[in-house]
Amino acid sequence: MLLRGFKGGIHPPENKKFSGGKEFSYISVPHTCFIPLQQHLGKPAKPVVEEGQSVEEGQLIAEADGVISANVHSSIPGKVVGIRLHPTVYSPQTQCVIIETEGAFSTSSKSNPEENWESLLREEMRSRIKDAGIVGLGGAAFPTAVKLSPPPNKPIDTLIVNGAECEPYLTVDDMLMRSFPGEIIEGIRITMKVLGVDKAIIGIEKNKPEAIRTLQKSLGKNELSRKIELVALKTKYPQGAEKQLIKALLGREVPTGGLPMDVKAVVQNVGTVFAIREAILLKKPLYERYITVSGPIVKKPGNYKVRLGTRISDILDEIGGLTEEPAKVIMGGPMCGIALDSLEIPVVKGTSGILFFGKKEVYNDAYLPCIRCGRCVSVCPAGLLPCDISVAVERGMNDALEALKPFDCIMCGSCTYVCPSRRPISHFIKLGQQRLKSKSAVK
Ligand code: SF4
Ligand code: SF4
Repeated sequence: MLLRGFKGGIHPPENKKFSGGKEFSYISVPHTCFIPLQQHLGKPAKPVVEEGQSVEEGQLIAEADGVISANVHSSIPGKVVGIRLHPTVYSPQTQCVIIETEGAFSTSSKSNPEENWESLLREEMRSRIKDAGIVGLGGAAFPTAVKLSPPPNKPIDTLIVNGAECEPYLTVDDMLMRSFPGEIIEGIRITMKVLGVDKAIIGIEKNKPEAIRTLQKSLGKNELSRKIELVALKTKYPQGAEKQLIKALLGREVPTGGLPMDVKAVVQNVGTVFAIREAILLKKPLYERYITVSGPIVKKPGNYKVRLGTRISDILDEIGGLTEEPAKVIMGGPMCGIALDSLEIPVVKGTSGILFFGKKEVYNDAYLPCIRCGRCVSVCPAGLLPCDISVAVERGMNDALEALKPFDCIMCGSCTYVCPSRRPISHFIKLGQQRLKSKSAVK
């Protein structure tokens, strides 16, 4: 099997041992769910329920507002007790539909007959994916139906399935591939039909030998394995970033400011193809997902299935809590994830994991000036000069900043990770992007 990779990148400690190989457990249905209207890139969904209304499990509670938006469904049966602001990973104040559990679980208790999807028209398949509110589950949360509808002038020849899971600590995609290989392959075939392509490539980092073996066994050695190729990738961060994955698997460079469709590719995470299959075959809306809960201070780290809208505090109560007060809580992976300041924040569609760190693991030292060591430059997978960008932002040199192409940054955090001066380089880059955006807005 070939081992492919990309230029730059880093090898942070994997730390997957905490939850790696642990089979999925279910987190109980919480008493109250806090379901944000904004769980995706684009405009928030518009509520279609009112306070006091009873809802069923899987019922539409907010509909997509425009093209780049996504439907939101109730993750529990119950009563809407409010539609109000609540902290989420996206903002300290996000409009949420708050539902208290009551009534019967009509959707999850029913095993819907699976229909023959091969006879469905592509348009019908796309509208089921849209209706189900599917978004990219790798973390980006871009509405999937939009990604699967490239314009006619952007023909696609390859579906790339992202099973890299290059972020340290996270093991949820690894366990999905090990636990549901047949479902994932069926989800890939369905997605290929929606896109109208004959070729798919699954990219998995070589540190997941069990997932590679299980999927390869499911693919077999027949017609299917000729259309769906499995490629082991170097274990290197950020191998799962779209542009790096496309470079490693197809040898194609996505142009500056471009999208995968510019090089005839569409990338979907393994969790997303799993959800696509459920939307097509079972007409199941996206109201629950698999996540990793991990970190050195978690008493029972593992891989869990959780209803969307479940608060972190409810998850901790169920899995036995922490061994000490957390110094840092992150939603997502430690490199690209978002630090949280409240345990009342709920799980959303883009939550791949929740990580907890104690005092020992968190640095609070002030950062120092750049010493021009060049480490950030050598690891940057986008070929940027992160040191110069950070200095340009610090000194307010906007013209110089623009020339350094900060919008090519994929926010992988590799530069920040290697910097001996502990400079928050990716934070500076984000600031620089915001500054340039507001400068062009006032022109
Ligand atoms: S500049 Fe951006 S792309 Fe380059 S290493 Fe830093 S965060 Fe990653
Ligand atoms: S790694 Fe840090 S100190 Fe070294 S060049 Fe980059 S910003 Fe400067």
